[in-house]
Amino acid sequence: MYLCYLDESGVPEIPGNSTHFVLAGIAIPIERWREADAAISEIMARHGLAGAELHTAWLLRKYLEQSRIDGFDEMNWDERRAQVARLRVAEVHRVRKLGIAKRNAQLKKVYRHTDPYVHLTLSERNRLAHEIAETISKWDWAVLIASCVDKSFFLTKGKPNQVNASAFSIVVVQFAELLQQAENLNRIVSGTVPPQDPVREFGLLIHDNNPTVALKHTGQLRAIRENEISARHGIFDRIIETPLFVDSGLTRMIQLADLWGYSLRRYVENGDSTLFSILYSKQRTMIGRIQHPAPRARVDHFAENSCECLICTNSGIVEK
Ligand SMILES: [Zn+2]
Repeated sequence: MYLCYLDESGVPEIPGNSTHFVLAGIAIPIERWREADAAISEIMARHGLAGAELHTAWLLRKYLEQSRIDGFDEMNWDERRAQVARLRVAEVHRVRKLGIAKRNAQLKKVYRHTDPYVHLTLSERNRLAHEIAETISKWDWAVLIASCVDKSFFLTKGKPNQVNASAFSIVVVQFAELLQQAENLNRIVSGTVPPQDPVREFGLLIHDNNPTVALKHTGQLRAIRENEISARHGIFDRIIETPLFVDSGLTRMIQLADLWGYSLRRYVENGDSTLFSILYSKQRTMIGRIQHPAPRARVDHFAENSCECLICTNSGIVEK
């Protein structure tokens, strides 16, 4: 059985504040879950972030306060935290006096999301994200799937309110194909070709707990099943119908899907391949102890035919 953790990057609304909407998933065999979770938690703990949520976009922001503190890099973690806290308290008081409620709320939001990481310099935070990406890239059993939708291009092909549904069905197909490949390999290993009754390979979608998304995706999964395409392929039976919704703050694997989605959006929107190049692997997928020729990263970029990105030109990282 496979678990597929999903997370979104950017917003599906058009125009919204992003040119792309990315739905990213990390699919892992259920027996690897503990190992994966422990590996990431160990890295986080080494950086003074035991129990903290990994939220890549907040982690990799520039924190203005840090540049205003003399000798910040030379301080120890406690001193850095104390210095940043001092500046933040002063800023909260300053903004409160201005009496602009919206700005006040925004400031608090930024502080809430970035507080766990303020003891690390920007280069240390970049190294942390890099190390986590490197760790994921070594998991030859983890399959990274995603749909990246260029929203302005989508407008020329589909209805504006279907960006999310389109990305979701692509990701579900990618996941279903993985399950089918795993099942076929199981069949070969167990010598049940052609005899019937192979062990079925089931999959569970695990999504960040967001009531709106929850409702939307449950409905979409049902619609995909009823769709004639799925009837023709007959591959969706393996996906458990009711997706599981969890609190991303408590689920490391959702946070990794967040990092994967972040790296994709940085790449398709800004050409920044720092994290993308580590994760976008064309290495073969290990299913059990067998190599499957399909690559470990399976990404769809819904964009102009002329797009020359590594995804569209299919010229990603060469097989190692
Ligand atoms: Zn492209």
